[in-house]
Amino acid sequence: MVAGNWKMNTTIPDGVALARAVLERCGAEGTVDVAVLPPFVHLWPVREVLAASSILLGAQDVFWEEGGAYTGEISPPMLAGWCDLVLVGHSERRHLFGETDAQTAHKFAAARRHGLMVILAVGETETERDEGRTVPVVDRQLEAVLAEIDAPPPADEWVIAYEPVWAIGTGRTASPAQAEEVCAHIRAAVSARAGESPRVLYGGSVTADNAAELFSRAGIDGGLIGGASLKPELFADIVAAAALAALAR
Ligand code: PEP
Repeated sequence: MVAGNWKMNTTIPDGVALARAVLERCGAEGTVDVAVLPPFVHLWPVREVLAASSILLGAQDVFWEEGGAYTGEISPPMLAGWCDLVLVGHSERRHLFGETDAQTAHKFAAARRHGLMVILAVGETETERDEGRTVPVVDRQLEAVLAEIDAPPPADEWVIAYEPVWAIGTGRTASPAQAEEVCAHIRAAVSARAGESPRVLYGGSVTADNAAELFSRAGIDGGLIGGASLKPELFADIVAAAALAALAR
């Protein structure tokens, strides 16, 4: 899977144009699941652009309540049935907006109650890595979610994105070995706990230049792409790298 997180970028007309450009370049992709995650207000018009394609439509976040006095929030029932997936636990939610492991877990569980596929983002800060705490931090983030739900979703209905915080939007990509090591740990930890691991993506300054090497590593099943997802030609090159890596497996 290659998923493009547009974050808080583009106006609606620019987002629709970006969706058209992604459709033009990636619409025929048959090997890799391609997803775009526009801002909330773009979801419906982008859905209309992508309607006849297999490109998945995702939201960047979701709230855990069904409805009510939660100004500014979007609930799972508002998305279910027409939006394919939601991202929860992105490091910007955790670190800029103070979202806790428990809140991320509530979001995950609520999205699943409404049948939405979920991408769960996990990852350590630079200090946590320097202190040798990458594995315990990632384990804690995963465990918070697994403890909240009765049973893990089927492996094809959720995805884990390993995104070291220090690599997101910084141009400092994790080395393929670093990414592979943590993705392998996640896969093993989730398999031990849930029976079967979902796909594990790497995210953090993935570009058209480093994607092929990252995706060639065993256990990295694609990428969650921020900055490069705003440039359709770069995003398409990253999708092509994932397709080649998938064919080589
Ligand atoms: C992200 O937002 O999930 C991300 C990985 O961003 P970037 O590719 O810009 O580092």
